[in-house]
Amino acid sequence: MNRVLVTGAAGYIGSHLSAQLVAAGRRVVALDDLSAGRRATLPATLAFVEGDIADRDLVAQIIREHRIDALVHLAAHVQVAESVARPGKYHRNNVLGALNLLQACIDGGVTRAVFSSSAAVYGAPTRSPVAETAPTIPINPYGAGKLFVEWMLRDLAGATMAGRAPLRFVALRYFNVAGARAGGGLGQVAAPGKATHLIKVACEAATGARPGMEVFGADYPTADGTCVRDFIHVDDLAAAHIGALDYLANGGGNATLNCGYGRGHSVRDVIACVKAVSGADFPVTVAARRPGDPPELVADNAALRRAFDWTPQHDDLEAICRSAYQWECQLAERAQPSQRSPAAARAG
Ligand code: UDP
Repeated sequence: MNRVLVTGAAGYIGSHLSAQLVAAGRRVVALDDLSAGRRATLPATLAFVEGDIADRDLVAQIIREHRIDALVHLAAHVQVAESVARPGKYHRNNVLGALNLLQACIDGGVTRAVFSSSAAVYGAPTRSPVAETAPTIPINPYGAGKLFVEWMLRDLAGATMAGRAPLRFVALRYFNVAGARAGGGLGQVAAPGKATHLIKVACEAATGARPGMEVFGADYPTADGTCVRDFIHVDDLAAAHIGALDYLANGGGNATLNCGYGRGHSVRDVIACVKAVSGADFPVTVAARRPGDPPELVADNAALRRAFDWTPQHDDLEAICRSAYQWECQLAERAQPSQRSPAAARAG
């Protein structure tokens, strides 16, 4: 049986996907440079290679040795604001790295690829929910890089190579990924003070890992003035990748699909939800808008539902926030094992 190469497997989404793939009996090779991911999040049985996606010789060797026939490419820098400040860093890894990886995969005979794209390719869409056919006008380097790679995939898939099956791909445009594995053990990890994603930041404030948090802009043209996002649970997103792999294995053609629930929640809604599930009333202040943030991003997910048999299991903001908070409590306990977590303390 052939194997799937998962880049960025030791990261947040990669660790949830790897766990699902291994649980489903799939053979996986994980490639990760551990710049953001952690080896310990991966199942012990999984083949792991520490290295760079841009290292074509390494990728070629993995493909040969493990008879890889499908790629799931997740490895990328992921912070919009940082991409605005350091575009070179983003384009070097997310675009040039992806080109090297894809070329090595094509040269090695890999014919199926699933790519982690982003709703950031839309920029600030004028319609909500946004469908895949909407104009793609990214407003930050992160989104531009994701769109470049979508175009690269399209061009590489369109090129005819004598005697070879063409590349086929599914690009999954993630909306806001959040939450943690029910039952614990997996979730999003960030160095102290370095988290940037809303639900994680709010959960850190709830555990006391940070003193409070800021709302980046309360003067947007939305119902409560704060940005609106479509939060998808990481395990539902991981399941969409398995759907994409199966779709391609069954001969499916190139597809670009939104991954979200089709419902928006404002930054204020999310903070209120984290306060409710944690029982913690942490300080929240309004700060200036963050560069690169569009006011509203909500997915039209009809194409995803049509393309594969994908039924969300965790479409509930409260459940997402609760799982993220419970994970944050586990992290807090690990950091200070002698102290009981806020959740445990509150539970008595
Ligand atoms: N946000 C915020 N305070 C924070 C973190 C995020 O107000 O500490 C806002 C951010 O400005 C954006 C939304 O929450 O409007 C979602 O941001 P996040 O970084 O989670 O995801 P993104 O939409 O950038 O991928």
